[in-house]
Amino acid sequence: MAERRYSGAVRVPDPEIVCVDCGGTCYPLGWQPSDGEVPDGTVIPYRCRDCHDRWDVVISSDDEV
Ligand SMILES: [Zn+2]
Repeated sequence: MAERRYSGAVRVPDPEIVCVDCGGTCYPLGWQPSDGEVPDGTVIPYRCRDCHDRWDVVISSDDEV
């Protein structure tokens, strides 16, 4: 099985993330898993379904903060 490799220029956003505030699930706005990869550095807004907070997540191949 060949591993798909990219030049580091694209990355698949998480289809859901955990809300930092309430622990609920946040879903991306304006992006769906079927949309696939986005360019590195793309900002995807996520909306928490529980507290409705919005989180702007930078999609990056570097997870370091
Ligand atoms: Zn929340």
